[in-house]
Amino acid sequence: MTSDMTTVDFSSLITAAADTIATHAEELTALDQAIGDGDHGLNMKRGFEAVRAEAETFAAKPLPDALKAVGTKLVMTVGGASGPLFGTLFMALGKEIAAEPDRAGLTAAFGKAIEAVAARGKSQVGQKTMLDVLQPVHEALARGKTAAEITEAADKAADATVPMKALRGRASFLGDRSIGHMDPGARSSALIVDAAMAALGPAA
Ligand code: ADP
Ligand code: MG
Repeated sequence: MTSDMTTVDFSSLITAAADTIATHAEELTALDQAIGDGDHGLNMKRGFEAVRAEAETFAAKPLPDALKAVGTKLVMTVGGASGPLFGTLFMALGKEIAAEPDRAGLTAAFGKAIEAVAARGKSQVGQKTMLDVLQPVHEALARGKTAAEITEAADKAADATVPMKALRGRASFLGDRSIGHMDPGARSSALIVDAAMAALGPAA
């Protein structure tokens, strides 16, 4: 990731993300059963399998267009509250990123993409959502952390949603009863970050 992200095949990033979502779908469902409606695992699996099905087509595009295509596909297929939010994340990343980004460019684009998610979700850090993982990951990127450190930051951030009270999304309907459970979207965000870091690892 230091200089040339294009050295990593985009289709292998897609495969890595789709694989981890498929492997952890039941876990995501269980998390969403505890504080939501239990559809997050299936929602994410449906979306990432749809993206996987087009991996080669998307990978043939310049990086900004590839990311926008992923986002558009996620909006169309994931559903729930998280579909438009993950879709926004990838679409905004595609809009902001250069065709051959360096780490500073990736970091800046990721920051803008997180802002777009927050605007779309009318949400902010501390409300027990995916933002509580995405923001610390952005910080780790900005601080020049390694892929392994970014992975650790993502996992810790997902764990840190356990004692939080949900203030956005379906889990917020539970009030204090949302405390003591990991946020499903925080967990899925960490899984995707972890998969991306594992795929990028050798280049990071
Ligand atoms: P739904 O809640 O509609 O069933 P999902 O179960 O697929 O949708 O996704 C739930 C996840 O979406 C939550 O765990 C949370 O991380 C995320 N989420 C929900 N609402 C918001 C929001 N307003 N801002 C940011 N993230 C949100
Ligand atoms: Mg749900």
